Amino acid sequence: MEKCIFCEIAAKRIESQIVYEDEKVVAFKDIHPQAPVHILIIPKKHIAGVTSLEEADNELIGHMVLVTQQLAKDFSVYQCGFRLVVNSGPDAGQAVNHLHLHLLGGRRLKWPPG
Ligand code: 5GP
Ligand code: ZN
Repeated sequence: MEKCIFCEIAAKRIESQIVYEDEKVVAFKDIHPQAPVHILIIPKKHIAGVTSLEEADNELIGHMVLVTQQLAKDFSVYQCGFRLVVNSGPDAGQAVNHLHLHLLGGRRLKWPPG
């Protein structure tokens, strides 16, 4: 397999601004933020994306979503609101084939995103 940039970030072989870490997930600041708060939450284990998820990943996905509660509090968007986004495939513009949740906030977000 080609080197996966997010596996490298999780293993700390590539530098990133990590804002949360536990045994299952890592969260770090997006290198090209689309909002004042733009954090990526990834599983430490390589999963290519939503379409690669299996039943056994249920708990991990639930955990990734729950972690966003604390991050939203830490980055002061818990009350004013935030958005969780997962891009899947070319039409959604998925650029990195390692599952990641975008946590976006800190400004009024447009809907629909376009
Ligand atoms: P996607 O389009 O796949 O949903 O989102 C990939 C995201 O990863 C993009 O928002 C992009 O800015 C971010 N990204 C890509 N490479 C790196 C990197 O090396 N470091 C960090 N921190 N973010 C990255
Ligand atoms: Zn990976």
